[in-house]
Amino acid sequence: MRKVVIAGNWKMYKTQAQALEFLQGFMLELDNVPEEREIILCAPFTDLALLSKNLHGSRVQLGAQNVHWEEAGAYTGEISGPMLAEIGVRYVVVGHSERRQYFGETDQTVNLRLKAAQKYGLTPILCVGETKQQRDAGETEILIYTQLEKALVGVDQEKLIIAYEPIWAIGTGDTCEAKEANRIIGLIRSRLSNQNVPIQYGGSVKPTNIDEIMAQPEIDGALVGGASLEPQSFSRIVNYQ
Ligand code: PGA
Repeated sequence: MRKVVIAGNWKMYKTQAQALEFLQGFMLELDNVPEEREIILCAPFTDLALLSKNLHGSRVQLGAQNVHWEEAGAYTGEISGPMLAEIGVRYVVVGHSERRQYFGETDQTVNLRLKAAQKYGLTPILCVGETKQQRDAGETEILIYTQLEKALVGVDQEKLIIAYEPIWAIGTGDTCEAKEANRIIGLIRSRLSNQNVPIQYGGSVKPTNIDEIMAQPEIDGALVGGASLEPQSFSRIVNYQ
């Protein structure tokens, strides 16, 4: 059985005060969420230590949004795996399209970050997905196969989550049709040696479309950006039917 994993990706939103305010509303709404659903909040670095204290003993796990590949060193502005693990972070988003697009992330650096995350005890959430232009040109499958192949060299598929995030669906309200997301996720799974890797869909997931998304047989969860910022909408998502 593959695990269901619902992760919120807060991106560069929420001060510590705002993060605590979110928890006040969100934690009250988790009582009826089935035990086996893993719930993760991927927060900005500055929120993590505080969230770790406040989530201690709860069922909500903590994730970061990036990790450097060295244990320590002269890398101004970076954060390492041991720094995250020490404060109770268990997951880390790697290779999000915003990092690939704005911060020079490549398939090679994604590969280094994945291996480092695992080395220091974090489970990476590897993001893959195509642009609108690539989709229109019929290049979706080959692009995703290439991203996977390069990212996964030397990576342990026992400690891995993958998120299929079509770039044209991120933050646009233009969700990928659930059946199409299911098809692509099935193709991603066909390229993996471990068939138990949870594969999420991400891109304009909302309370109004989560039920249909999670009804797809290949889709094991969601990576949620905008709709994870409000306690009401994210709790509706983790409580999907
Ligand atoms: P979105 O973002 O839900 O706001 O589209 C998803 C993501 O970037 O992970």
